[in-house]
Amino acid sequence: MACRICSGRLHQFADFGSQPVSDAFVTPGDPREEYVFRLAVGVCEDCSMVQLLEEVPRERMFHDGYPYLSSGSAVMREHFWSLAERFLATDLAGDDPFIVELGCNDGTMLQRVAEAGVRHLGVEPSGGVADLAAARGVRVRKDFFEAATAAAVLAEDGPADVIYAANTLCHIPYMDSILGGVATLLRPDGVFVFEDPYLGDIVERASYDQIYDEHFYFFSARSVSGMARRHGFELVDVERLPVHGGEVRYTLARRGARTPSPAVAELLAAEDAAGVSDLATLTAFAARVADSRDRLVALLTRLRDEGARVYGYGATAKSATVLNYCGIGPDLVSFVSDTTPAKQGRLTPGSHIPVRGPEAFADPYPDYALLFAWNHAEEIMAKEEGFREAGGTWILYVPEVRLVRA
Ligand SMILES: [Zn+2]
Repeated sequence: MACRICSGRLHQFADFGSQPVSDAFVTPGDPREEYVFRLAVGVCEDCSMVQLLEEVPRERMFHDGYPYLSSGSAVMREHFWSLAERFLATDLAGDDPFIVELGCNDGTMLQRVAEAGVRHLGVEPSGGVADLAAARGVRVRKDFFEAATAAAVLAEDGPADVIYAANTLCHIPYMDSILGGVATLLRPDGVFVFEDPYLGDIVERASYDQIYDEHFYFFSARSVSGMARRHGFELVDVERLPVHGGEVRYTLARRGARTPSPAVAELLAAEDAAGVSDLATLTAFAARVADSRDRLVALLTRLRDEGARVYGYGATAKSATVLNYCGIGPDLVSFVSDTTPAKQGRLTPGSHIPVRGPEAFADPYPDYALLFAWNHAEEIMAKEEGFREAGGTWILYVPEVRLVRA
């Protein structure tokens, strides 16, 4: 198995076993066998990129029924709106600027750009969310972004001032085509800005549920810097972001076009000091993850034996890894509540736990709620006043397995 970035040698450090597609919720009674793949992770000894060892075909993950919505959380809406304001205020040049977003989802960010009357385009392969973006007044092209797409967009719209991607770039194994496409479409002095889960946070917090089919790469400043150079770009800025359990926003520009900010050298130095991409560090991470799994299963088994009522909260894509890796089924968690209508009435992929609407969570409230959407913990805990008043307890497993009184 060779590195998808540089063809270097990969060293496997974690194996989560056979896993389903994280968003492939199952209709009860559907006799078809679920598609599964081996979820294992390795690090490249040459370019330090951390990546999955087996690739899931993209059409299995990003299709008309893709259920994740960027606008689903108030915190995320605010996050994208403030970034849109920043793009509009500082990153556009000339009289007729142009912003492109790769994987624009339901158009949360681009809606602001559209409202400002600025030319834009969202490239989104998942038809259902692309339709939602279009309904918000966002101009959308239903397509995967790759070199050919970039050439077509350039021919139609001219070069882009800003190309942006949130929680998209790490989904795409074929990076040569993506960065080649960005090089084609971006103005000479334009910027390519993307934000994705940060390897440093995953390792530090043992947040192994960031590892699932859709997340092919786990970026660090070091690996992104090397990847950028291979395509004539340079990493010119990094920002740590608190969203989605810890991300970094990377800014690339053509080499020599912009002066890198001090934050780049600082993060590179911090990563080297922590050995974040060292095989020893990653092997220790895998051992902590196995320990976390054992503790979570022991806790849920004890609660079941005590007769406690335990529900799951948030049938997130991330929860697929936890449920299937830990072997948690409906005997330990009676159902998972989720606000997404498309998931309700169905079963969690692989683990086959029923998914029910939020009204079921309160009827009656459980004794314990296993919080899969832990990256939105503050927002959720504030919202679930009734659970607190009923004396409920949250179960969290990142950065360690623990109980939190609601
Ligand atoms: Zn490599």
